[in-house]
Amino acid sequence: MKKVVKFGGSSLADAKQFKKAGDIVRADATRLYVVPSAPGKRNSSDTKVTDMLIEAYRIAANDGDLDRQLADIKARYDEIITGLGLDFTLDDEFEVIADTLKKDPYLDYAASRGEYLNGKIMAKYLGFDFVDPFDTIFFNEEGSLNTYKTEKEMKAALQKTQGAVVPGFYGRGKDGRVKTFSRGGSDVTGSIVAAAASVDVYENWTDVSGFLVADPRIVKDPVGIDTITYRELRELSYMGASVLHEDAIFPVRSKGIPINIKNTNRPQDEGTWIVESTAKKSDYTITGIAGKKGFCACLITKGLMNSEIGFGRKVLQSFEDNGISFEHMPSGIDTMTVVVHEDEFLDKEQQVVSEIHRFAHPDSIEIESDLALIAVVGRGMKSMRGTAGRIFSALAHRNVNVRMIDQGSSELNIIIGVANQDFETAIEAIYDIFVNTQL
Ligand code: ASP
Repeated sequence: MKKVVKFGGSSLADAKQFKKAGDIVRADATRLYVVPSAPGKRNSSDTKVTDMLIEAYRIAANDGDLDRQLADIKARYDEIITGLGLDFTLDDEFEVIADTLKKDPYLDYAASRGEYLNGKIMAKYLGFDFVDPFDTIFFNEEGSLNTYKTEKEMKAALQKTQGAVVPGFYGRGKDGRVKTFSRGGSDVTGSIVAAAASVDVYENWTDVSGFLVADPRIVKDPVGIDTITYRELRELSYMGASVLHEDAIFPVRSKGIPINIKNTNRPQDEGTWIVESTAKKSDYTITGIAGKKGFCACLITKGLMNSEIGFGRKVLQSFEDNGISFEHMPSGIDTMTVVVHEDEFLDKEQQVVSEIHRFAHPDSIEIESDLALIAVVGRGMKSMRGTAGRIFSALAHRNVNVRMIDQGSSELNIIIGVANQDFETAIEAIYDIFVNTQL
């Protein structure tokens, strides 16, 4: 048995949190590979070290007082080192960082140093080897991951160790310079390390005990999700649920490695398991609910649309030409609705409308704004009768008017469009009917 453990920023924000992380690694001899984030916020008004480093880059690029900013950052690390009682200094590392940023300030290098330095401390604290992702994670020209080279180099490096720390968030770009993933990208590093080392479990340690069925800012004390499939997670994170970086599932998914989301402050909690497939039934018919506000629906009507070949393509071409991606497209016999993000669409709406008229000659185009979309996701829905019925009667009882419905044939999710102002009530109603009432 082998495990990768990734710790998020809040799990390594100070010496106290660092100790908890250390105890977790030491408590299980199979936790062989550790992927740290940079120190996160110690309290809600604090600043993440990554943000302090991004600021350091800005200061360096504008010839500001870089030494002062780096001294503040170093103080964060020194507090951790002293708190852990380590005989260790990052003096030389900070000299290199200062020199590099003064000579050639660039953002990705600056941002990546948070993880790099935390990795150095973690390796020292655990007595593990330090494996630099600069030598083991590679990007292609256009910025995507070079999966083949990364897997080969990472595997070779890990084989030489008995236990290793691999800092999260960065690797080497095609130009030979440091390159970071998008924010939150240490999750992706954890997944890459898990796949390369062919581990049995990828443990992702954070400050919550896994995923919740609904957003706790909307539903009070929602229940947790024990097990979720990769596909369900994709649907929910696409709709705004966030705990894990979107790209983090891909490297492990192809190898069937499960991800276990765990809470550093409550290691005894089982957390959420993310798996490829499972025979486990979820406790409720649905696995989760997520949603977002701020969509627009363009309703395009044309008599005999159903028999006109190429009509849909012409309509979508108008969106594509204006660089707008569409989210959903429910259709009727003589109508099709294209749902788009309001903020992407508003600037270009008149161009799109006139292009649709020119290309597709519809009878009319109506635009509805202030639409919120809610995804009700669950692998259990396909074998249950009446799921949609329950959703809609729950919404009707709370006086929520449903403005759009879209159910993919996978039957993994039902998307419901409601007015922005009904968003919270709709989520509460759906949660209530499936979790509290459990009809
Ligand atoms: N430290 C980086 C960030 O704040 C990456 C990460 O934590 O995953 O986004």
